[in-house]
Amino acid sequence: MKTFCGRANPTTGSMEWIEEGEDYDYHQEIARSRYADMLHDKDRNVKYYQGIRAAVSRVKERGEKAVVLDIGTGTGLLSMMAASAGADFCYAIEVFKPMANVAVKIVEKNGFSDKIKVINKHSTEVTVGPDGDMQCRANILVTELFDTELIGEGALPTYEHAHKYLVQEGCEAVPHRATVYVQLVESRRMWSWKKLFPVHVEAEDGEKILVPPSEMENCPGVSSVCDIQLNQMPSSDFSTLSDVVTMFSVDFSKPVQSASTYYRVQLEPVKSGKAQIVLSWWDIDMDPSGMINCTMAPYWVKPTSALQWRDHWMQCVYFLPREEPVLQGEKLYLTACRDEYSVWYNLQKAREGENKAGEEEHKADVCVESPVCRCRAHLLWNRPRFGELNDQDRTRQYIKSLRKILKTDSVCLCISDGSLLPVLAHYLGAKQVQCLQPSRIDLYHPYELWQAFFKANHLEDKIKIIEARPELLKPSHLEDKKISVLVGEPFFTTSLLPWHNLYFWYARTAVSTHLASNVTILPQSASLHMMIVEFQDLWRIRSPCGNCEGFDVQTMDDMIKDSLNFRESKEAEPHPLWEYPCKSLSDPQEVLTFDFTKTVPQHCLSTEGSVKLLRKGRSHGAVLWMEYHLAADISVSTGLMQLSNEKGNCEWNPHCKQAVYFFSSVIESEILTNPTAVTYSINFDTKTGEIAMDFKL
Ligand code: SAH
Repeated sequence: MKTFCGRANPTTGSMEWIEEGEDYDYHQEIARSRYADMLHDKDRNVKYYQGIRAAVSRVKERGEKAVVLDIGTGTGLLSMMAASAGADFCYAIEVFKPMANVAVKIVEKNGFSDKIKVINKHSTEVTVGPDGDMQCRANILVTELFDTELIGEGALPTYEHAHKYLVQEGCEAVPHRATVYVQLVESRRMWSWKKLFPVHVEAEDGEKILVPPSEMENCPGVSSVCDIQLNQMPSSDFSTLSDVVTMFSVDFSKPVQSASTYYRVQLEPVKSGKAQIVLSWWDIDMDPSGMINCTMAPYWVKPTSALQWRDHWMQCVYFLPREEPVLQGEKLYLTACRDEYSVWYNLQKAREGENKAGEEEHKADVCVESPVCRCRAHLLWNRPRFGELNDQDRTRQYIKSLRKILKTDSVCLCISDGSLLPVLAHYLGAKQVQCLQPSRIDLYHPYELWQAFFKANHLEDKIKIIEARPELLKPSHLEDKKISVLVGEPFFTTSLLPWHNLYFWYARTAVSTHLASNVTILPQSASLHMMIVEFQDLWRIRSPCGNCEGFDVQTMDDMIKDSLNFRESKEAEPHPLWEYPCKSLSDPQEVLTFDFTKTVPQHCLSTEGSVKLLRKGRSHGAVLWMEYHLAADISVSTGLMQLSNEKGNCEWNPHCKQAVYFFSSVIESEILTNPTAVTYSINFDTKTGEIAMDFKL
C-alpha cells in the first residue's frame, strides 16, 4: 500500500504530495515521537509506579481482584508496573499498531504475558463481556494520555467513554486527578507572538509609522496551543500580575464529561500592569490524598532542584483576546473555556458594587466560542514569525541595508511570504515597489491580508501585489520595467529547515530575465554555518533508554533506531534552540555559501572538512543555521547570536528553528573517549533543495 505525504518542495516553494511506502508514515511518527523522552522522564515514571502500587494495594485491601485497564499502553510500561505491584490482570490498550506490536514483545520479554493482554484498538472500540476483548470491567484505570495542554490528546472523551463502558463504578484511577494552574502576566516578548507592533521608519520626509489593520488589532488569533519550555524564559522577560491560581481540576476516578464548558475564578492583581498573557501548567496527583504529585510548575514556582527536564510535557502560553490594563487589588474574573481538545482564556473586570445578579450577567458574556483568526495574519504567520517581525533590531538591519542600496529610480521586487520589506522599500524612497504573493493553498489568501495592510497605511496605490508565481512573471506585471533591486528576507511559510528559505534563490533564478543588468540583490548571499555542541538535555529525546524502572524496554529503543535509520542518511531536524540550552564544543564554522547574484547552478554544492573540538564535553550533534548577507558589512543570523568563549554558552535567535543533526553516538548510546575533531561532508543538492550530511567523530 502507498500513502501520500504532503511536503514542501524547497525548489518551488509549494506543497507537493509525494508517494511514500506504507512504512514511511509510521517510521516518521516513531522517529519523531516522544516515547524516548517519556521513558527518560524519571520523575514521571517513579510517581506512576508509586501511584499504581498504592491503587493495587487499596483494591487488594478491599479483598477484590485487581483488574487494570491501561489505555494507551505504549511500551506496556504502566501495565508491567501494575503486574509487578500484584495486579491480577491488565488490559493494555494501544491504538498505534507498531507500538502495540512492540508492547507485545516487551511484555513477553519481561515475563508478563500471562498477566497482560495487549489489545491493538482505540479504547472506544474495546468490548467487554465473555466474548469481548475484556472479560469484565476493570477496577483500576491507568492512563497517560496527556499533552502539555492536558486535554489536547483527547484524554477527556477517552475517560468519558471508559467510565461509561470499560471500568466499574468507584474504580481507582492513576492518576487520580489533574489540576490546571494559571498566572496572569505582562510580557512584551510573549505578546509580540500574537500582535504586530507598529514599525517606526526614519524616512527622508520624516518618521513613518507602519500600523497593522484594525482587523488584526482585534483578532482573537488561533486556538492552537502555544507550548514552550517556560523554564528557558528569563524572569526579566515577563512580569507576573497575579499569584498562581487553580483554574480547574478533573477527577479521573469519577465519570468525566468532555462536552464544552467553562471555569471561572476571581483574581486580584498583585501589581498593576497590562494583562496580556495567561501562563498555564498542570499537575497530576497519582493518589487521592495528593501525596504523590507530578508537576509541570516552572522554576519560579518551585525550587530549581526539583525540576525534571522533559519535552513531552511543557507549559502553555495563552494570549488574551486583547490587552487589558489592570490595577493592583482590583477585582477580575478569569475564565477558562474549553471544548473537548483545547482551552482558551478571557479576562473580565468586575463591575462597581457587583452583586450576585451581576455575576450571573457576566457568565452570560463569557465567550464560549474558540478563537478563530479573522485577520488572516495568524494563519499566515506562526507565533515565532510574529516575534521576528516585531524584532526591532532585526528591522533596523534591513532598513540600514535598504538605505544603502535603494536609489530614487529603483524598481524593486520583493519575494518573501508576508514580508514588511516592500513597505520599508517604499518609505525609503524606491520609485516603484511590487511584491510577489502567489495564491497558494498553504498560504490562506495572503493577497487579502496585504490589501488590508496596505490600505491601513494608505499604501494601496503605492505598492503593487503581483499574484503570480516567479516563473510566470510577465513584463506586463512590471509595467515593462526591469527590476533594479530584488529583495527578500528571505522567509517562506513552507520552510521547515533553515536552508529551505533558499527558495529565494530559486525564485531569483526564475525571474532572471526580468532583472536589470546592474541589479542589486538583497540578501546578496547566504551562508550555512555549523557548530558541534553538547546539549544540556535535548539529547535525551533521541537517546535509548534500555531499562526503565527495572523493565527491559530495549525493543522500543531498537524500533526507534530502525525508524531513525529508515532513510539511508539520517536527516537533520528543526528545533528552536533558545528553548534547549547547549554548549559549543567547536568554533562556529561557515561551511557553504550561496551566491544570490548568480543563478542556482546545475551541479551540487558540496564540502568536506574537519572541525576541531576546543572544549571537553559530549559531542551530541551538529547545529546548522543560515546567515544572510544583506549588504556590505550587514548580516543577519537565523542561528547563533552570541557565544561566550570561556564556557561555550550559546545565545540563539529566538524566532527561528535551527537544524540539529544528532550523531549516531547519541542514538547508539556509545561512550566515546574524547574525540579531538569531527569530520564532515555536506552536500546541497540543487535539484531537490535539500542538504544531506554525514559526520564522523
Ligand atoms: N503508557 C505509556 C505510553 C503513553 S503515550 C507510558 O506511559 O509510557 C500515549 C499512548 O496512548 C500512545 O501510544 C497513543 O497511541 C495511545 N493512545 C492515545 N489515546 C488512545 C486511546 N483512546 N486508545 C488507545 N490508545 C490510545
